[in-house]
Amino acid sequence: MRRQATLRPRDGMETDETLDQIRDVFNGTVPNVFRRMHASGELERNWPPIRAVLVEPEPLPPEVVQALFIVLSLRCSSYYCFVLHSLTLSTQGATQISIGELARVFDMPAVTPEFDRWSRVLKLTWLSQFDGPQQHAAEYLLRRNCSDAEYQQVLRVHAANQVINSFTVDPELKLDGEPMLDSFPAELRALVPEFVRFYMETTSGSSPKRPVCTMCSVCRDVRAVDEQWYPLAVAGELIPKGVLFSHGLCSGCLVSEGVPSELH
Ligand SMILES: [Zn+2]
Repeated sequence: MRRQATLRPRDGMETDETLDQIRDVFNGTVPNVFRRMHASGELERNWPPIRAVLVEPEPLPPEVVQALFIVLSLRCSSYYCFVLHSLTLSTQGATQISIGELARVFDMPAVTPEFDRWSRVLKLTWLSQFDGPQQHAAEYLLRRNCSDAEYQQVLRVHAANQVINSFTVDPELKLDGEPMLDSFPAELRALVPEFVRFYMETTSGSSPKRPVCTMCSVCRDVRAVDEQWYPLAVAGELIPKGVLFSHGLCSGCLVSEGVPSELH
């Protein structure tokens, strides 16, 4: 495995150890986002909690951790994290199409064990971890769909993702000269433009040209143009072409899942 030259240590041995740990996790490379953390003197503080969720994903399956990173990275203003996590999930068996669906409707790749539950956890994490009208109902449901240990690990992934993303924003970190790219096989590197496209298509939600349709994070029903909720499979003609999905909770699920009314 190719080994990068040691970055100039700022803090002596400790930094060398940290960089060695990073190389162990990222196939012998130090991704540029960690070089930025290093340059700003914040690597030593930020790395341990990031490493913890990558090296010890349990009780979450490793592919769920990557999928959480992918979905949460859609909130980032750079495609950097989205693309690199998509490549990583590809090495864990996810197809290009399944990553497109992950970005579009937050469904786990079908090979994931407990597909339904983890797909729901992805959607509920997205809803519960960002400000929005159904944030508290989603948090209630997320806790009901997870064990305490799983829930705590979801929160750790979210926290790690926020730290990583904060170092990609200013100036916007792109993939030019990204050493981690070289660690993937050529057939996966060839997918990078597709993954960038998935990111761009999903995050152009503010564009007035693309209609937005809400999907229930529990039952996957969608709210069609007539404001009624329909199962995704039968809503086809009622959903505009090229729709962007946002995520929410339908009134039926809020009741049937026992969400206290003060959280609706
Ligand atoms: Zn529902």
